[in-house]
Amino acid sequence: MAMNVKPVPTLDDEVNEIRLATAEIVNKEILPNEGKLWGWMSDGSSTTPKEVLDEAKELRRRIQDRVKKAKLWAPHLPQEFGGMGLSFMQHAYMNEVLSYSPGASSLFGVVAPNSGNQKILVKYGTPEQHEKWLKPLTEGTMQSAFSMTEPHNPGSDPTSLTTRAVLDGDEWVINGHKWFTSNGYAADFYVVMCRTSDPKDPSGKNEKMTQIIVPKGTPGLKIVRGVPVWGKASSHCEIIYDNVRVPKENQLGRTGTGHQAAQDRLGAGRVYHCMNSIGSMWRAFDLMIERLMSRQVHGSEKLEGKQFMQGFVADSYMDIQSALLMTIHCAEKMEAGADPRVDISSIKVYVPAAYHRVVDRAIQVWGAAGVSGDLPLAGMYQGARTLRSADGPDEVHKILIAKLVLRRYHAGESWDFGN
Ligand SMILES: Cc1cc2nc3c(=O)[nH]c(=O)nc-3n(C[C@H](O)[C@H](O)[C@H](O)COP(=O)(O)OP(=O)(O)OC[C@H]3O[C@@H](n4cnc5c(N)ncnc54)[C@H](O)[C@@H]3O)c2cc1C
Repeated sequence: MAMNVKPVPTLDDEVNEIRLATAEIVNKEILPNEGKLWGWMSDGSSTTPKEVLDEAKELRRRIQDRVKKAKLWAPHLPQEFGGMGLSFMQHAYMNEVLSYSPGASSLFGVVAPNSGNQKILVKYGTPEQHEKWLKPLTEGTMQSAFSMTEPHNPGSDPTSLTTRAVLDGDEWVINGHKWFTSNGYAADFYVVMCRTSDPKDPSGKNEKMTQIIVPKGTPGLKIVRGVPVWGKASSHCEIIYDNVRVPKENQLGRTGTGHQAAQDRLGAGRVYHCMNSIGSMWRAFDLMIERLMSRQVHGSEKLEGKQFMQGFVADSYMDIQSALLMTIHCAEKMEAGADPRVDISSIKVYVPAAYHRVVDRAIQVWGAAGVSGDLPLAGMYQGARTLRSADGPDEVHKILIAKLVLRRYHAGESWDFGN
């Protein structure tokens, strides 16, 4: 089933054109080819024939060329760095459409963790770092990873991180143990979150964090393994940094700005992630309806005639609409410069949970096919579940929501739900 995208009356012409052009590529180029593009990942065979891999690669290249011709490449980057130069809201609205097909974002030049690293490099990188790391990352000739989480410290509390970088002359010397460094095998460089203290910084004794670029192959960098995820091999790597030495100029931004850079990565990113989830929910919803309208059970009646199933339609509709409206409300607040913290945490908790419910119902309707590799639902289900832990676990965000809301009441004000 093709995605039904029409102009949204409340959006301006430019956003509507971007959404329609994106939907055209998703519908005409990507959906009909999903089996070839990604199918080989789910057929369970341990060795995929080379010609199948080559065909998938060639197809991806062709679609990427088409995306570039349509000027839809890298929506997250400014034009001077090879991107579309979209505003925050334009990017959010585009994500909703391109995420209808899982994996499609990579065909539009947005691949995590590269995309997050690109944004950090744009904001904190020097012109030399732009040339050396950002340019090849955007052109697709380099890969990267973001190495923050540690096995022995809670990722939900970044102040607990113990990986340490110490200045020795003109070099940083890094020691630490990380895991879940996504894309770890393919990465040409790693952005490593390190505890540092700058001797010249009067607040240095607070031991702030700094992000430091470590190129692949630097002595002392050891990939221990790809940590298996959801029962499958993965490239979310466990890495030891053992006296890893890199030049001082490999640090991103000023010493001590690492925590802020991580926050920058997450703030707007959470809106983009939620819009991605909404695009995926849209797909799961369409798939569920397709099956309800075609599957006959107990004689001649279609599933759509069963009230249990009708309940699924109504519940999923409400989940998607509420997730979308909450996310747009949050994005509008951010765009207007209002304090969005309660809304960012709210969508971070609500949207993955709604996504989880919507995919769960679609899987139920599809029966055995729902959990098979023939449909994108099983992958979406795992993705939705993972989102509840990644980017800050739900509980931490709920604590923040309650704290900020209560603070306002303690200050003698109540909450204004109109704003
Ligand atoms: C597929 C995947 C990819 C990832 N990719 C990357 C990556 O590229 N780079 C990277 O650095 N990291 C990555 N991560 C790691 C991710 O960011 C962390 O898993 C996340 O930050 C949570 O940290 P943790 O796993 O240490 O859990 P913990 O911090 O140990 O938290 C575990 C649980 O404790 C509970 N909890 C925590 N704090 C509180 C509290 N204050 N009150 C009540 N309950 C609480 C929550 O239920 C939470 O889920 C990835 C993770 C996954 C699953």
